[in-house]
Amino acid sequence: MDNYLIPDSSSITKNFPTDISTSWKECLRVIKENVSQMTYNTWFLPIKPLEMSDSILKVQLPSQFFWEWIDEHFNTLITKTIHEVLGPQAKLAYVIFEEKETFDISSLTKKEQSYNSNTISSKSKPEFETFLNPRYKFDNFIKGEGNQLARAAAGAISDNPGGTSFNPFFVYGGVGLGKTHLIQAIGNKILDKFPDKKIIYLSSDTFTVEFVEAIQSNKVNEFSNFYRNMDVLIIDDIQFLIGKEKTQDLFFQIFNILHQSRKQIILSSDKPPKDLKGLDDRLISRFQWGLTADIQPPDLETRIAILKKKSEDYGMNIANDILEYIASNITSNIRELEGCLIKLLANVSLNSREINLALTKKTVQEIATDRKVNITIETITKSVCTYLKVDENKIRDKTRKKEIVLARQVAMYLSKELTKCSLKTIGLNFGGRDHSTVIHACNSIEGMKLIDNSVKHLVENIRTQIELSST
Ligand code: ADP
Ligand code: MG
Repeated sequence: MDNYLIPDSSSITKNFPTDISTSWKECLRVIKENVSQMTYNTWFLPIKPLEMSDSILKVQLPSQFFWEWIDEHFNTLITKTIHEVLGPQAKLAYVIFEEKETFDISSLTKKEQSYNSNTISSKSKPEFETFLNPRYKFDNFIKGEGNQLARAAAGAISDNPGGTSFNPFFVYGGVGLGKTHLIQAIGNKILDKFPDKKIIYLSSDTFTVEFVEAIQSNKVNEFSNFYRNMDVLIIDDIQFLIGKEKTQDLFFQIFNILHQSRKQIILSSDKPPKDLKGLDDRLISRFQWGLTADIQPPDLETRIAILKKKSEDYGMNIANDILEYIASNITSNIRELEGCLIKLLANVSLNSREINLALTKKTVQEIATDRKVNITIETITKSVCTYLKVDENKIRDKTRKKEIVLARQVAMYLSKELTKCSLKTIGLNFGGRDHSTVIHACNSIEGMKLIDNSVKHLVENIRTQIELSST
């Protein structure tokens, strides 16, 4: 990576250019000589120079993903180029989209979202940070059966925040199914329609961290007032409040005040309210006051539609059979669908390869392997037993009761499908059974799946749950 063809400074104008577009053009010229045409077009042409001051060249990138990619693959090239073209003091700063956050490539630390006491008393718009990511819009949120209710309610709330009966709006569902996207899309839409509304988005983790900081710096009142003053409060992953009693108490107060004054509250979680064990009952009951909507994994058509939209967004033109192959093999997580596209894009732009079915198959397989590493026989056994309401210990006993045998066989079958463990290891994990018992179990489940739809659904549902909880 370090053997770049960077011209020595003598070939470049010695009085470093200060005009932003000339400087950037010069940088591009150097970069172009060091990367393939495809890489250049994909990763460098979309960069927009913004301004230049105090040896800092500020550029705009189209997305967070873009930044991460460039940072990982071209950091050295960019740094060297900038130093050559603009002088040894020069640095590059990134701006993502319209976001205010900037990134300094030499330190590579992302400015943390943090609770800033300066913003507390500030009502004026420019100083107010919503922490919404402008990438998450309704326009690029694909509708499907699995998200129908949640999507419809989200639209209604954006038109009339605080004024519908959907308050609070509680969205739940597995990992990577679009909760964060949807609740931020509501925020972005409200911001568009009602620019004076005070909207803030944060995860319940950030809320907890800020609360602890506020306690330490004696600013609990300011902290609490700040959130009580919101028109729209969006808190992601509320399940992380479990076990944090003091934070729950404060959140309870803020919730009540906002709700009484008809301010919109939007929450997401990985489970429905009633399953949030360890959360204060008062909160659980309030979460159910408004609308609770789930997001289910997308069906095949929706998955294809999502892939189509995302590939267009990345400027890729991918054949339908390839999209269908991906959508048929990655079934339970939209983030993984996106991850697959990104891997393909990476392969194509770095190795100048074409996207064909063979490359796609390999990429899908890599994603499945990444996933397998996280899934263990224990997690599978737990999921199967919870789903079938069977005692986990019994599954390892000699019991031959019908429902226990089914649970045991499903667990063995999924262990073979979802982990890299050998048949011998799987057998040992189920009460020291022989590997031939595992083969028998797998054959038996395969057979039942073919003739009995209820078994087929049961196995697929459990598989989806396991995959979701291990990503
Ligand atoms: P969650 O918060 O449920 O874990 P995210 O909202 O982070 O999931 O979604 C994961 C990724 O999938 C994001 O990049 C998001 O944009 C994308 N995504 C999820 N649902 C959809 C959808 N219906 N249409 C388009 N993209 C989606
Ligand atoms: Mg999320």
